[in-house]
Amino acid sequence: MIGTKIEPQLNWQKIDTVLLDMDGTLLDKHFDDYFWETHVPEVYAKANKISILDAEDKLLALYKAEEGTLSWTDLNFWSEKLGLDLETMKTQLNHLIQVHPYVLEFLEFCRSMGKKIYLVTNAHPKTLEIKMDKTGLAAEFSAIICADELGMAKEENGFWSKLADKIDFDKQRCLLADDNENVLVSADKFGIKNLVFVSKSSSTKPVSHSSHYPSIIFFNELIDE
Ligand SMILES: [Mg+2]
Repeated sequence: MIGTKIEPQLNWQKIDTVLLDMDGTLLDKHFDDYFWETHVPEVYAKANKISILDAEDKLLALYKAEEGTLSWTDLNFWSEKLGLDLETMKTQLNHLIQVHPYVLEFLEFCRSMGKKIYLVTNAHPKTLEIKMDKTGLAAEFSAIICADELGMAKEENGFWSKLADKIDFDKQRCLLADDNENVLVSADKFGIKNLVFVSKSSSTKPVSHSSHYPSIIFFNELIDE
């Protein structure tokens, strides 16, 4: 376990909107990590007749250059750049798409208290569709907002005010849970009051707590008994 855990202390009486990230927060990020770090390099190496190690080096450098931008999650962008049909490749691996433990219980808990629940994701619409098809989670949300629609990633300044124009929430009475600390930082700057970091984003990676924000391993920690 890395870092000291800051325990979340939510007052549910003072929260009426719940904003939830998808990859790593509600869904096991193992799928995404495996896809981009293992599967894509293997297929890319074969297609370009280079070694897997060379493909990994090349791809990691390309990924790094786009981190924190909308291109990073843009399947069309990468399909074109790498000359691969990534949408089909993702669909073929969809058995690895899994919902994290206690997510369904947490959504039920929020719904039972009448909270508005929104999925707010940087994921590309095609990726979103593949994941909603596999998990059946779409019906759980009042709305699903792809960063793509707002024209900027959640880490970018200005994202949250654009979101507030779109779905009308009170930032003082709002909870955001995300496994990306940079996203929490940008939401914090905007003034979202309740921020929770998800410190076990992947079933195959160790827990890593935020040093600045309250952290949870699983969502059962936010369910009041
Ligand atoms: Mg995430």
